[in-house]
Amino acid sequence: MLFDSVTTLHGVGAARAKQLEALGIRTLYDLIAHFPRDYEDRTQLRRISDLTPGTPSCFEAMVISQPRNSRIQKGRTVTRLSVADQSGRLNLVFFNQDYVGKMLEYGVTYFFYGRLEEDFSRMMVNPVFERQDQPGYLTRRIVPVYSLTASLSNKLLSKTIAQALDACCGQLSEILPATLRAKYELCDIGYAYETVHRPASFKELEIARRRLVFEEFFIFSAGLSLARSKRIAKPHAPYADLDMEPYYAALPFSFTAAQRRAVGDILTDFSSSKPMNRLVQGDVGSGKTVVAAAAAWCCAKNGKQAALMAPTGILAEQHFRTLAPLLSGFGISTLLLTGSMGAAAKRDAKHAIAEGKAQLVIGTHALLTGDVSFSNLDLVIADEQHRFGVGQRAALSAKAENPHLLVMSATPIPRTLALILYGDLDLSIIDELPPGRMGIDTFLVNESYRARLNRFIRNQAEAGHQVYIVCPAVEENEETSRKSAEAWAAALQQTVFPDLRVGLLHGQMKGLEKDAVMGQFAAGEIQILVCTTVVEVGVDVPNATLMIVENAERFGLSQLHQLRGRVGRGQAKSYCVLLSDSKNPETRTRLKVLCSTNDGFRIAEQDLELRGPGDFFGRRQHGLPAFKVASLSCDLDTLKEAQDATRDYLGSHSLDDPALTSLYDRIRSLFDEEDMIFN
Ligand code: ADP
Ligand code: MG
Repeated sequence: MLFDSVTTLHGVGAARAKQLEALGIRTLYDLIAHFPRDYEDRTQLRRISDLTPGTPSCFEAMVISQPRNSRIQKGRTVTRLSVADQSGRLNLVFFNQDYVGKMLEYGVTYFFYGRLEEDFSRMMVNPVFERQDQPGYLTRRIVPVYSLTASLSNKLLSKTIAQALDACCGQLSEILPATLRAKYELCDIGYAYETVHRPASFKELEIARRRLVFEEFFIFSAGLSLARSKRIAKPHAPYADLDMEPYYAALPFSFTAAQRRAVGDILTDFSSSKPMNRLVQGDVGSGKTVVAAAAAWCCAKNGKQAALMAPTGILAEQHFRTLAPLLSGFGISTLLLTGSMGAAAKRDAKHAIAEGKAQLVIGTHALLTGDVSFSNLDLVIADEQHRFGVGQRAALSAKAENPHLLVMSATPIPRTLALILYGDLDLSIIDELPPGRMGIDTFLVNESYRARLNRFIRNQAEAGHQVYIVCPAVEENEETSRKSAEAWAAALQQTVFPDLRVGLLHGQMKGLEKDAVMGQFAAGEIQILVCTTVVEVGVDVPNATLMIVENAERFGLSQLHQLRGRVGRGQAKSYCVLLSDSKNPETRTRLKVLCSTNDGFRIAEQDLELRGPGDFFGRRQHGLPAFKVASLSCDLDTLKEAQDATRDYLGSHSLDDPALTSLYDRIRSLFDEEDMIFN
């Protein structure tokens, strides 16, 4: 029953089934698992005199004039009538709903739900209504609001879902055992589904919702801990050669104590008989690349292959430029594989990887494609991990028997969220910057500083330094960002800095073009680089000393901190200028946080506090599965409880206990990547 097709429902034919399919709904279960995205409170009745323009409300009123239909232009019709209660009267207007004239009878009382027009405060357009003696469906209740497609109305979808609930809500099976439900005071599953669609009160809704949130987090954290225990369960041969001194000696600088600690943690993992599962977290500029390279170096010395996966081609290319020469000194061959390489070059690279001729392979997610096979991959490094999903991490590790996994991230994530995102990893923190860094002075200015700013740019360039100018992200829309960057670069080159070299870099350029521009900038041939947020992560040009962000109000704090991290990477004093004409006090408070601190963790905490985790991670991929009910902004307490519950529950069952089968099924559908992690 539960997994019968939607067409078994009365009134659902092929056409309706197709509309539902567009929402991913095929079975009755899919229908009842299509939870409302919001609710409208239509339980409060108001008097007509108390209605406020713009706010939808429910009220009870009698029709006090015969409805009149008339034609307006283009064959449209309009129906007008008046209604009243003891407090006053109101004119109702319906467009293209002639039948309304027949349904609303003179002298009869109805419940209405609608919104007064902002400009004509005694008029309401197209309210919904029900006779006073009919049961409340559109009025007098909490009405669920569903995600829809164009051809399906909310009313129709709620009716279909209601039908499905009546048919099969009783057949839902419990994932959460009774003891657990009792301990955490969770309602049963049937009640939760029923109530989340047809809540009698907000209090009941909250009870139902909490149960569903708990369940989702329970499945999620069970998934993470199973992934971890499965990886750890497989033994790994320890590395024999753990002497790092030759590597340290080859570097042009000495490691900071924090870098040494991180390498120490990695070596401990290498020397154990379990595969490494480690996250190295360090603020921008803390020197994570050489730590990753140390791991790769050690892996190569022990006769194995390493892969380093970067989120962008620019970053992969840069890692290649710095690491290949460093490692070749030891006779270790490094190879680059990105999506933008030509077919022949790719073929050659894949060959070399398969034959084991490349000991370190650096690339983008091109490394994940099915036809890349390694000869003896044993270490997988993911740089700037927040861009990768749990699944991508797993896909790369799946290219080897049971490889070590090292994840590098600059995104300073508040502890609560780190626990979620990286719950399956051990943590090393690099909490120290290389010596001699002078800190970056950050200023918030408005357009009136433009002339001074241009002089400042010129000063920096004349002192032999380089400048980034980041153009606004327009809703993360690369196309619009590209246009603004292009126009800005051209304007600066022609009118302000004709004697300097202004470069342009945006996400829509071809891989080779991007590499060429980045190469020129790294070599100091371009003084001013106008760009989009493609330079946000990882880019390392120590000679750049000035970061300018246009329309800074459009960026998140953590993102600005990442951008600012592109400067202050060398010995020279560096600056970051945030341009914003915004007068919004909240925006200014937010931006001033950056002027007051260089500490990524503090900024992340502030960012989280000010915007909530949804925005904190932006719309870009953050590696979390799409939760249906749970929200990372409001359900952190429930998350904590669910994590405790998971630990108790899994701790008291062996992993092959048949009682866990249905939990495994749910984990697979939540992560949606069966063959990767949980096989
Ligand atoms: P991130 O942690 O942001 O990835 P990088 O690895 O790109 O930082 O390093 C930033 C810069 O600092 C690079 O130019 C790198 O060569 C340099 N660097 C790294 N470690 C040290 C160190 N111990 N002493 C001096 N400079 C260092
Ligand atoms: Mg980096």
